[in-house]
Amino acid sequence: MARKTTIVQQLINSRSTIKPFKCSNVSKKYSLPLTVGSKKTITSDSHFFTLKPNSRQSMKKLSVLTAAALMLLVSCSKSVSDKQQEEENTVEATTRRCASYEVLQAKLKEDPSLQKRMDEIEAFTARYVAQKSVNGKLEADGITMTIPVYVNVLYSNAAENISDAQIQSQIDVLNEDYAGSNGDVNKTSTYQTVKAGNTNIRFTLAGIIRKSTTITSWGTNDAMKKSSQGGIDPTNPTTSLNMWSCNLGSGLLGYAQFPGGSTATDGVVILYSAFGSRAKVPSGTFTSTYDLGRTATHEVGHWLNLRHIWGDRRCGDDFVGDTPAHDGANYGCPAAGAKSACSGKPLEMNMNYMDYTADACMYMFTAGQETRMRATFAAGGPRASLR
Ligand SMILES: [Zn+2]
Repeated sequence: MARKTTIVQQLINSRSTIKPFKCSNVSKKYSLPLTVGSKKTITSDSHFFTLKPNSRQSMKKLSVLTAAALMLLVSCSKSVSDKQQEEENTVEATTRRCASYEVLQAKLKEDPSLQKRMDEIEAFTARYVAQKSVNGKLEADGITMTIPVYVNVLYSNAAENISDAQIQSQIDVLNEDYAGSNGDVNKTSTYQTVKAGNTNIRFTLAGIIRKSTTITSWGTNDAMKKSSQGGIDPTNPTTSLNMWSCNLGSGLLGYAQFPGGSTATDGVVILYSAFGSRAKVPSGTFTSTYDLGRTATHEVGHWLNLRHIWGDRRCGDDFVGDTPAHDGANYGCPAAGAKSACSGKPLEMNMNYMDYTADACMYMFTAGQETRMRATFAAGGPRASLR
């Protein structure tokens, strides 16, 4: 059942000692209602942003990047009581929550030049996709991209200091999911014809950097990526993928930086207990439901320029031609045959990694998503420096 108030909101309401939010250290938080295995309505309250349904769109439109920013409540870890902070730290990730889009909106507001860079990347990607449709295979298609991965572990207790084996299991999951060799890829034949198969994108563990910290909840303001703020600076960000494992707080599972952002903050952040696969390392530290490593599969998808499959708005655009319009995110493990309320009521692709379903119920990218990711590596593309 959808709850009209959020976990964090309830925590706020339950405390009488909370100071008013007021800070310059901007940390964006957002929240979604708890719904398992069904559609949800994204709700709002006075403190959190909302994705209000726009007028129905019969087609995906190339307007997301220029749409007015959806703003959210500014909160600040320094302005809440320690008690509340402790409670936020212990909020379980009971529903998938990825802050990539919200963090992007914050960065677009902070840096007006980012929009221009992202528009240029979008135009480049559109040309790449159009060229592929004419010529079939493109130069970048045949190359196996092997991406060195640095994993930055920030821990305030033993559980957060995840093992080398748990970290390796995440690399293994990424390799399986991006090769289309994941064991559940044929769980259903739904959308079989558009499954990506092997994207020729691979990952190899280049190093693990560990740091003990007294910070127990990192939020989404990139502090974990900055040694000046107690975090760990990225290693070789123009030629590598950096991942941070830490506690984000507020039940957040992770967030990614899209192509076009600053190299100083490039990479993906994953909740420590959603990092890796319980199926591969049963002795690891894992939350329930998001314990098969698919949070990283999803976040690395963002890092390679994929959007949420619903386009972050009702029946919005994910810039991919072979994904159906979704009227919103799906959660849990939706029943087979669930249909979108968007024009034409298409069968939803809730098994796509870029939806919000449970780890066990997402198992595919599409060919169109593969092309979009591959475009980032092409000559002139935003991640060509990884070649
Ligand atoms: Zn996401």
